[in-house]
Amino acid sequence: MTTAIREVSVFGDAITYFNEAAALLNLDDGMRAILTHPSRQIIFSIPFQRDNGQLEVYTGYRVQYNFARGPAKGGIRYHPGVTLDEVTALAFWMTWKCAAVDLPFGGGKGGVTCDPTTLSQSELERITRRYAAELVEVVGPDKDVPAPDVGTTPQIMAWFMDTYSMHTHANTPGVVTGKPLEIGGSRGRVEATGRGVSLCAFDQMDVMGMEIKGARVVVQGFGNVGSIAAKMFVDADCKVVGISDVTGAYHNDAGLDINGAIAYAQEHHSLAGYRGGEKISNSALLEVDCDVLVPAALEKVLTVENAMRIKAKLIVEGANGPTTPEADHIFRENGIVVIPDIIANAGGVTVSYFEWVQDRQGYFWKESLVNERLKEQLIENFHVVRTLANARGVTLRTAAYMVAIERVVTSLKMRGVYA
Ligand code: NAD
Repeated sequence: MTTAIREVSVFGDAITYFNEAAALLNLDDGMRAILTHPSRQIIFSIPFQRDNGQLEVYTGYRVQYNFARGPAKGGIRYHPGVTLDEVTALAFWMTWKCAAVDLPFGGGKGGVTCDPTTLSQSELERITRRYAAELVEVVGPDKDVPAPDVGTTPQIMAWFMDTYSMHTHANTPGVVTGKPLEIGGSRGRVEATGRGVSLCAFDQMDVMGMEIKGARVVVQGFGNVGSIAAKMFVDADCKVVGISDVTGAYHNDAGLDINGAIAYAQEHHSLAGYRGGEKISNSALLEVDCDVLVPAALEKVLTVENAMRIKAKLIVEGANGPTTPEADHIFRENGIVVIPDIIANAGGVTVSYFEWVQDRQGYFWKESLVNERLKEQLIENFHVVRTLANARGVTLRTAAYMVAIERVVTSLKMRGVYA
């Protein structure tokens, strides 16, 4: 198993963004200290049996960062690069993301350091059930509500929900979101993050006077977020000129056939061997001449190393934390607008919120209603952020953090600090 080593702490990057906004809000030291410490970090061993009978032990994490606005909320990641630092950063971001789009949740995140591509379905099921069993006491619809992230799927959420329900002797669909429709999932959830990415992009392109029809788009990562976002761009008559996944990147100046690429990736479980475009390196993909760049894979892909060579006018962060603070600074200097992750990819958690509401109501909405409410929730809050950015002369990222921090601090002060 390969383990991605990230040289600088991802949580450190996340705190840098927080500090910038906190300074502009004149946040006092005590409040800063509370908000830069996770409420709870859990690390545990996951012994599991391979299909061949051999026993192995993986490491599982769950970080519940903040509960001021509601139960913790955030995905579960299965990836060789999962560390406590990464999960903490992701839980930290979830806190601000939920607040930035005004959802009644705190922030959480979890993961298992494993490579799901090397595991069979039955091995994944055993890991997931053990992971869920370890967390039964601390998750639940009113405590912490996980969801899918990199390397996890609706099927994995189904196993999690079933394990929790078995242990609590009560059918509890609201313990996780991103479930299959048949067992309490929401219509529109699978597409929600990619849809939100494209909705934010179109809204911002309009403000920047960019033509949507014919706009050239590059998407890094072709999983749930990247492939759906690419499809939404093409459906709006944009030209997606570059895509990539972990196996390689593909470029076609005339525009790629995205529906064909999605069908190919579904059939072959990746883009490996895809012939619809010229194969280029993953790093070259980010530097392709385009109007809109959507990083939708992992953290720290736009760095001081490549920021000067990025040609996009608009970057829409489908992934969490794709831009380092140094690269962000270069983009600001070069007039490249960045829609930050905590707004751009908040479509997923917004529809997760709708799923949680529907599970608790026991009444399920039509897809058109889900999509309408998603657009309203996301874009209304994006406008709040943009208005503040213009008023204070700060980037959309700083403004998004300022809006989110202010909302969390207000809740915290109203509840009072139990100290
Ligand atoms: P996924 O597992 O479905 O897809 C990840 C994709 O990234 C895959 O195509 C993979 O091959 C690709 N990838 C990995 N390393 C790469 C590399 N070095 N270069 C190019 N491509 C690479 O995951 P996802 O759910 O689409 O999540 C992608 C990002 O979006 C993550 O940062 C995640 O935290 C974030 N996100 C996801 C959701 C959601 O609802 N799924 C919501 C908010 C944010």
